Amino acid sequence: MLRKAVVIGGSIAGILTARVLSDYYDDVVIVEKDQIENNFNTRKGTPQANHIHLLLVKGRNIIQNYFPELEEDLLKKGANKIDFLKDGKYLLPSGWAQRFNSGIVTFTLTRTLFENTLRSYLKKNSKIKIQDETSVLSFESEKKNKILLKANKGQTIQADLIVDCSGRNTKTPIWLEAIGYSKPTEERVDSFVGYATRRYLVPKNFDKNWKMLVILNKPPVNPRAGIIYPIEDGKWLVGLSGIGKNYPPVDEKGFLEFTQKLESSEFYDSIKNATPDSEIFGYQIQGSRKYNYEKMKEWPENLIVLGDAVSVFNPFYGQGITSSAIGVQVLDNMLKNQKFDGSFAKTFQNKLAKAIALPWTLGTSEDLRWPTTLGKKPTLLTRLVQNHAQKVLLLGPKSKLATKSFLEMMHMIKSPMVLFHPLILLQLILRFKKEENNS
Ligand SMILES: Cc1cc2nc3c(=O)[nH]c(=O)nc-3n(C[C@H](O)[C@H](O)[C@H](O)COP(=O)(O)OP(=O)(O)OC[C@H]3O[C@@H](n4cnc5c(N)ncnc54)[C@H](O)[C@@H]3O)c2cc1C
Repeated sequence: MLRKAVVIGGSIAGILTARVLSDYYDDVVIVEKDQIENNFNTRKGTPQANHIHLLLVKGRNIIQNYFPELEEDLLKKGANKIDFLKDGKYLLPSGWAQRFNSGIVTFTLTRTLFENTLRSYLKKNSKIKIQDETSVLSFESEKKNKILLKANKGQTIQADLIVDCSGRNTKTPIWLEAIGYSKPTEERVDSFVGYATRRYLVPKNFDKNWKMLVILNKPPVNPRAGIIYPIEDGKWLVGLSGIGKNYPPVDEKGFLEFTQKLESSEFYDSIKNATPDSEIFGYQIQGSRKYNYEKMKEWPENLIVLGDAVSVFNPFYGQGITSSAIGVQVLDNMLKNQKFDGSFAKTFQNKLAKAIALPWTLGTSEDLRWPTTLGKKPTLLTRLVQNHAQKVLLLGPKSKLATKSFLEMMHMIKSPMVLFHPLILLQLILRFKKEENNS
């Protein structure tokens, strides 16, 4: 058994990491800057928690594997189990998707309930301690290519393994540079996305045949998208997003006007008489950012980085939690099968980079379809696959298989090859022939 591991950040990536480390380490300490004990509100360190958080099926599967009681607990606490195409009504750029039992099932709930429920399991694990109200301030060199942490109140924290899960504002690149390492290179795709989100009470007489309403944006003509989904306590979370600096306003009038510019009036009609239950929360993000730690020549033996601290995705595609879960699974497999030696941490960053390459490509190549997005254009092969994916998505109103396959790819439960199913290819040829005859 290894001795002590320290995790910086007690949010979703940090919780999952601590859970896995407790199978291998005697002592796992989460160091979190916020006060989290008995704090059931949105914390300063996770302002994104006010916004829509879709849990992709891949992420749900990995997380439930580590916390088997999760589904039952969440449903008891008021989360909703949603089949994306039976309970969800989707407006695609080419029309409404067909509704049917797709088997693509996940939960809808507030991110705060999700995070707090996960954290509650750690309290039952005697190997894990949470040290809240403690900010890590810097790294310091220790002997033999190892680092230790300097935290507030003059603390020095030493560990056999340190895992940075401090999220999108991670200071690891700066802290590494300060002790003589080089700075990692980074990739950025800036699509300038804005979110505005508000809770509503579900109207008493609401008799629509959906639990979740999704109005997708329509490249390149309409950059606005909206989603309504049920959370706990009979409420809806209503989220708007705009790409290319079309930020949804956070004032009452502007918020409603934005909903009227979505591709369907069903969105506005659904909320216009609903009672708001919160202020309107805003969030502006540039887009996606990935640190290439795997390319660094020198790397500390006892440091690894995962979750948003490595890669931040445009939240529109719901990939953040799932990518953190994928990273934790990579770590688990390595600890199970590999000796913890001087090259462990470097090998981890390599494996992680490979594991998150798919979500990175899926999300950023979608973003790069907007002329307002800044970033390196995808390779020819990626562009071809992505063009094909768009054509498959547009088949949606006429083809259950096309929509289901597209969602399975976006939920990371099937590879993009699912879009090359012979029946889908046949449907595309027939559509092409029909368009040719009509022209
Ligand atoms: C608007 C928005 C919407 C999103 N929607 C989705 C979605 O639909 N689906 C999805 O899967 N993901 C979504 N995400 C991403 C998702 O929130 C994250 O991927 C997820 O929270 C995992 O992040 P994390 O644990 O790595 O980091 P975070 O959740 O950001 O947590 C970092 C933690 O580290 C702590 N910390 C930071 N610095 C220090 C320090 N120096 N010392 C100690 N503690 C520190 C912070 O207080 C915080 O608790 C969205 C993000 C945004 C911004």
